[in-house]
Amino acid sequence: MKNFKLTTNVFFGENSLEVLDRLQNQKVLIVCDSFMLKSGIVDKVKSHLTTCQVDIFSKVVPDPPIEIVAEGIKYLQQCKATIMIAVGGGSSIDAAKAIRELATRMDVAHIHECYAIPTTSGTGSEVTKFSVITNTAEGVKYPLVNDSLQPMVAILDPELVASVPPAITADTGMDALTHALEAYVSTESNDFTDALAEKSITLLMRFLPYAYTQGNNLEAREKVHNAACLAGMAFNMAGLGICHSIAHQIGAKFHVPHGRSNAIVLPHIVEYNAHLDGPEETVAARKYQRIAKLIGLPYSSVALAVSSLVNEIEHYQRIFGIPLTLKEAGITQEQIAAVRNDIIKAALNDTCTDTNPRIVGSADIEGILRKL
Ligand code: NAD
Repeated sequence: MKNFKLTTNVFFGENSLEVLDRLQNQKVLIVCDSFMLKSGIVDKVKSHLTTCQVDIFSKVVPDPPIEIVAEGIKYLQQCKATIMIAVGGGSSIDAAKAIRELATRMDVAHIHECYAIPTTSGTGSEVTKFSVITNTAEGVKYPLVNDSLQPMVAILDPELVASVPPAITADTGMDALTHALEAYVSTESNDFTDALAEKSITLLMRFLPYAYTQGNNLEAREKVHNAACLAGMAFNMAGLGICHSIAHQIGAKFHVPHGRSNAIVLPHIVEYNAHLDGPEETVAARKYQRIAKLIGLPYSSVALAVSSLVNEIEHYQRIFGIPLTLKEAGITQEQIAAVRNDIIKAALNDTCTDTNPRIVGSADIEGILRKL
């Protein structure tokens, strides 16, 4: 027996923040980073909470470390909020999810309703059961996984992403593309997750270049925002693959933004999973062929389709100014050599590896690192 479920109530489109008007006389904690305060985005959210007591924890930083989550738990304990609203990119949403989850388990606070308002279009964290927390001392990122981490409400307001600068638009958009492509070929993929992933990929390939070059194009912003959420729904059920397992290590060790790490690794993983030189045609290769057809690339043979898809991903990297190699990302061979074994071990142990379509060994990861 298989199961597919969508838990989060999603509100989307212009003016979707209005759904917050239903919160009356509540104690609310907003979890965000300092940019959200400065940029006025938190004020926009607060303008819908006029009858509520609102506290703000704004200490989240990219790739939130355990220490910030611990501070957030103390803050929540003191302010006694019962509604939590995460406002920001994946880092703020993940931090909020971990704060709520751990505070509940420690029995120090109880959040009845949690909202996620993404201000980047990438992680899909607003609909997922994951929260990625960083152990800075060890240089490792840990995905926490539990159904209870899923936000109850997600609000996708395209106006909140109009201010995302081009480089972050590109990194986060490529993150969403990686989610959709990895979910599509995952060992747990099914008709439901495939439908979500296919729609996400077609929206991203069409609208991400416009969101990148015309930040104020609200149609493009809305499509890319929705696409990131659809990809989140797909991988929430289907899981991911070794692109993420390797990218998590690159992010934690060298502080490369999450989406950019994924973008650098992605073309190599499509090639690796397609396994064109293997003994027989793989399901992943046939699925990549379907994607090539869907987005208008040459697809007359599986091999042609896979190489067209790889070229297209690299073309997007180039037009978005994303490095194609770790060297271009400023990481030297010596730096990689110093942590190669740690990266391989952690990537093999990463939960995302479990659903990769091709069974992976240390030599495979080492080979991919060499290409990178
Ligand atoms: P982020 O949240 O770290 O934000 C990146 C930068 O963008 C920050 O400086 C932030 O202030 C800025 N920013 C955010 N919104 C903005 C806006 N509207 N205008 C201008 N600047 C804005 O980046 P992210 O890529 O959204 O999240 C990455 C994190 O999410 C990583 O820790 C990653 O591991 C995690 N992640 C989680 C999941 C999940 O399912 N939980 C999935 C993928 C990634």
